[in-house]
Amino acid sequence: MKSMTRTDIRENLNPFAIAQAQLDEAAAELRLDPDMHAFLREPMREFHFTIPVRMDDGSTRVFRGFRVQYNDARGPAKGGIRFHPDETIDTVRALAAWMTWKTAVADIPLGGAKGGVICNPRTLSRNELERLSRGYMRAVARIVGVSQDVPAPDVNTNPQIMAWMIDEYETLMGFREPGVITGKPVPLGGSAGRTPATAMGGIYAIREAANMLDMNLEGATCAVQGFGNVGSYAVKLAAEILGMTVIAVSDEFGGIEKRSGIDYHELSQHQRRTGGIAGFPGSHPINNDDLLTLDVDVLIPAAIENQITSANAAQIRAKIVAEMANGPTTPEADTIMGENGIFIIPDFLCNAGGVIVSYFEMVQNSYQFYWSEYHVNEELDRKMTAAFDAVYKMYSQRGVSMRVAAYLVAVQRVAEAVRLRGWV
Ligand code: GLU
Repeated sequence: MKSMTRTDIRENLNPFAIAQAQLDEAAAELRLDPDMHAFLREPMREFHFTIPVRMDDGSTRVFRGFRVQYNDARGPAKGGIRFHPDETIDTVRALAAWMTWKTAVADIPLGGAKGGVICNPRTLSRNELERLSRGYMRAVARIVGVSQDVPAPDVNTNPQIMAWMIDEYETLMGFREPGVITGKPVPLGGSAGRTPATAMGGIYAIREAANMLDMNLEGATCAVQGFGNVGSYAVKLAAEILGMTVIAVSDEFGGIEKRSGIDYHELSQHQRRTGGIAGFPGSHPINNDDLLTLDVDVLIPAAIENQITSANAAQIRAKIVAEMANGPTTPEADTIMGENGIFIIPDFLCNAGGVIVSYFEMVQNSYQFYWSEYHVNEELDRKMTAAFDAVYKMYSQRGVSMRVAAYLVAVQRVAEAVRLRGWV
């Protein structure tokens, strides 16, 4: 998402350098053993490969793909696959590290991984997208598995892409193994409630934060950056579950503001009709930067990394920043917002709902018995609330930021598993 002029951004925007710097801060706070620290600073394994895809015009294009298994001490590596033109090995490494901390803070028996392909899915036909998805799975088939590494959707990938991937895997293997991919369509063994799960988990986290801050969310204002899977459900659920008024939404082309409130159903219909959110009746256009700095109670970055930086952090006016995206805030921006008393629900806590329901999906696949959406959400709420409580307790006891607190909880859990295995 091109949201801001980058000319006055001074800090390092390499996501993996940021992920390592965040870990370093937590390691210092924990007085983590230096050997353990060194081990946790690097991915355990990474795979780089090419994916030749036959294009509709008969030519062949070669795409570059990655899968990083950052750490699997606590269980099989877990994490989504992104299709993005700006993908690099360092973005995938960072996202795989964040998955490691995410599964640990959520206390589910999984490790952390991430995959990516450098591509612009908007320029691919549906058939080309299918061949790319199947090609990705052929490249990783030997390194994924229910007990090894379990992919899922992420930016620009979705249940249909997971369906093609699971079909490719099962065709190669010659047996059904639905648990090897999560975020599948429900008829192929997906879980009820998986698609809205990341946003739903974030909504539970906002509810818990508001409780702690003694803040009433009924009628509170909210702005959402991003209208993909996470952002669109955040718009819906912020209103439906928390009673908030969503006054601004953006997608990668720009944003809209409507002070009287934006209805999710009307906006989705408008998007389907026109192909974007621009021109939504009753709204006026704003750019992504203006959206981030609106005077709202809750700001939800739900797009991609590096959106809140030293260039705009001082202008953020929200009381709560609920990071439903991965890595939306740079360390410098973190410091500035902290000094301004903004309560941040850090990404790998706030957006853990997706992988929590992915874990429920694996559980359901393994015993071939499927839960109701009501049951999924009940269990999700329990997990998210427990994760929030653990982090909030650390935050109160140690007097560190919520992000450092989340790292302390997660790193301790991963380090304990590493130590028990005798790796360090
Ligand atoms: N892509 C999601 C995330 O970043 C979900 C990952 C998963 O379910 O494995 O958390």
